[in-house]
Amino acid sequence: MIPGTAPIPKLSSWQTEQAAAVTDPAELLNVLELGAEWLPGARAAAKLFPLRVPTAYIARMRPRDPNDPLLRQVLPLLDETRSPPGYLADAVGDQPAMAAPGVIHKYAGRVLLTVTGACAVHCRYCFRRHFNYAEANPAADHWRAALDYIAADCTIEEVILSGGDPLSLSDRRLADLIFALEKIPHLRRLRIHTRTPVMIPARITDELVALLGNSRFASVVVLHINHANEIDAAVRAAVVRLRGAGATLLNQSVLLRGVNDDADTLARLSEALFDAGVIPYYLHMLDKVQGAAHFDVDESSARRLYAALSARLPGYLVPRLAQETAGAPHKLVLGHT
Ligand SMILES: *Cc1c(COP(=O)(O)O)cnc(C)c1O
Ligand code: SF4
Repeated sequence: MIPGTAPIPKLSSWQTEQAAAVTDPAELLNVLELGAEWLPGARAAAKLFPLRVPTAYIARMRPRDPNDPLLRQVLPLLDETRSPPGYLADAVGDQPAMAAPGVIHKYAGRVLLTVTGACAVHCRYCFRRHFNYAEANPAADHWRAALDYIAADCTIEEVILSGGDPLSLSDRRLADLIFALEKIPHLRRLRIHTRTPVMIPARITDELVALLGNSRFASVVVLHINHANEIDAAVRAAVVRLRGAGATLLNQSVLLRGVNDDADTLARLSEALFDAGVIPYYLHMLDKVQGAAHFDVDESSARRLYAALSARLPGYLVPRLAQETAGAPHKLVLGHT
């Protein structure tokens, strides 16, 4: 090869889509034909946590509807700048549970790795919106400290790749990490917590499918979908590909005021998930993180909703209503069938 002509690595189509996500509030409002009255609040709140939303997701929103349940999840609002007491930067006690850089070991038998701070989308209610990823970046030393920690503890059987969103990493970097984990004999399961297949279905590449399909690990992919409108044909096709790789597909949602806080919406979500081949796993109570108070559904309303949902769906379509509690040995289940 002639020096200086090394090819620039080609971006895959999902990476191009990821890079083309909308980050300017004015553009989002424009595309959806919404009025300029939303702009000052959006700009102020985006300073605290930037706007980020892929165009494939915007395409599933209703134009001219400021209350669209998908838009509500991503549009920065002035409400975020007011944080009532009780809403914290680290709402779930992740920082004290950090066992090694990027390793959160809270629960028996499984550890969660924050493998990247990047996400395809910025969800306004995100409990990690203030997370210090720079401090918790296990990739800085090629995962060495994280791998050493896991290798030294035989009680760990499952690794959960989280973040951020682990599918923001390239297939090459994911493969490096998974191959290194496969060398640790006591590990049996690999779990991936991701919202990317919903935001950018093209992320489920042939390489990723082969990586999971050929792994010695039983793999579980936990999607994050809060509303049935998030599931379109491309998302269903992405799920089919993941299932083709042998992965078990589960979903976690967050109970969000103004998005999915009624029994009809939650029932339609469970049914749409099942139709797509995904089993509802958790319905999380909002983590009380600074800037997200306007999404909160109080516990008695949540329990009422949950009873209504349980009364109309088969048990396997009712997710566990759960609360992440700092210092507890597992997620606190407020209700399940
Ligand atoms: C939610 C969570 C897990 C996984 O819990 P499951 O009940 O097994 O789904 C593991 N570690 C941390 C830190 C978590 O927050
Ligand atoms: S995808 Fe998950 S980690 Fe990323 S912003 Fe949304 S809720 Fe937070």
